[in-house]
Amino acid sequence: MVKAIVGANWGDEGKGKITDMLAAEADIIVRFQGGANAGHTIVNEYGKFALHAMPSGCFYSHTTSVIGNGVALNIPTFCAEIDDIVSRGVPKPKILVSERCQIVMPYHVLFDQYEEERLGGKSFGSTKSGIAPFYSDKYAKTGFQINELFDEETLEDKVKRVCETKNVLLEYLYHKPLLDPDELIETLHGYRDMIAPYVCDVASYLDQAMKEGKNILLEGQLGTLKDPDHGIYPMVTSSSTLAAYGAIGAGIPPYAIEKVIVVCKAYSSAVGAGEFVSEIFGEEADELRRRGGDGGEYGATTGRPRRMGWFDCVASRYGCRLQGATDVAFTVLDVLGYLDEIPVCVGYEIDGEVTADFPVTHLLKKAKPVWEYLPGWKTDIRGIRKYEDLPENCRKYVEFVEEHIGYPITMVSNGPGRDDIIYR
Ligand code: GDP
Repeated sequence: MVKAIVGANWGDEGKGKITDMLAAEADIIVRFQGGANAGHTIVNEYGKFALHAMPSGCFYSHTTSVIGNGVALNIPTFCAEIDDIVSRGVPKPKILVSERCQIVMPYHVLFDQYEEERLGGKSFGSTKSGIAPFYSDKYAKTGFQINELFDEETLEDKVKRVCETKNVLLEYLYHKPLLDPDELIETLHGYRDMIAPYVCDVASYLDQAMKEGKNILLEGQLGTLKDPDHGIYPMVTSSSTLAAYGAIGAGIPPYAIEKVIVVCKAYSSAVGAGEFVSEIFGEEADELRRRGGDGGEYGATTGRPRRMGWFDCVASRYGCRLQGATDVAFTVLDVLGYLDEIPVCVGYEIDGEVTADFPVTHLLKKAKPVWEYLPGWKTDIRGIRKYEDLPENCRKYVEFVEEHIGYPITMVSNGPGRDDIIYR
């Protein structure tokens, strides 16, 4: 059985917690897209961890953590993450990395920084991890698959060729120091030795695992609204955040994915620039940010304060639809316990007309939220394990959202820990 765990919104929905929780019953957890630009926060018996490249199931000794071909792998960062986990007392995870996975090169990180500098105020708010230059090169066919590290002759030629074109940009566009191909080859030799113990044919491994009836989780990064095709283009990430891409980024057939668990947060938050219709500001936002998540809403990778907003039914319904939700996991509901009244965005007003359909970006820019107000429950719901035990207004909130998004909320998360979950 293969399940995908993906985000409905702008990311930071709590996918890490849900994956970590479902990993108790899983054999294999696969990352299929993205890089170390986003992060998952996980709280368990070993402490609090911000994972960037490592799949969220890595804390269990019975699971295998897999980096699929769709990932942008920064090898030194990934290896440092392994070392950090191990140094904090977690048993060393079993790790497999696809031989077809491509490498985030040191120059991808530099180009990301240089481009943000060049764009100044018009920048994308990139985390400067090299992700956009990485995927540009992948599709321009000048990227490096991990297996190429083991083909010495071709590697040297390719590095020299790539440096020639990169150096033109460095010299004339960015006015920055040039790349030295010999130095880069040395670096790549180091990468080869670091990653060698983990490299394998992941697609064959997963094929075999599926034949043996293993439980496999595909773990997505960010959410629907950051998808390059279906999100708030161009303020999106560079690889698809959709469950459908899980098949490609892991190397399995599309019909193998039987469950799509879409993680959807009880209010909204976003990191970086881009359209965000239900965004709130000032003291109202500060209070939600302070109380949000587990110890405040700040980026797991960057520490940047997240932009805050109320729940957006329009964006979430769209987000669940594009993911193809079979189940919705509704998270951080406990955080809303302080409110007398909870605003929910139920429609967008665009040029005087109200719609419940999520539009393309230029219309989204004009959209104003249409609010409904639901009564709060004014109690702490952490520790509750049965749906019936939730306060009535809290259940009404869940049911209101479920009706508006049109997909079944089968899990309600009421705290950051593995056990803070209510199944419906
Ligand atoms: P991800 O990238 O989707 O995994 O999301 P993040 O890890 O960036 O953000 C989720 C944050 O919310 C983390 O700090 C989690 O520990 C925390 N979290 C997850 N679920 C819950 C919940 O139900 N209640 C509370 N209070 N915090 C939660």
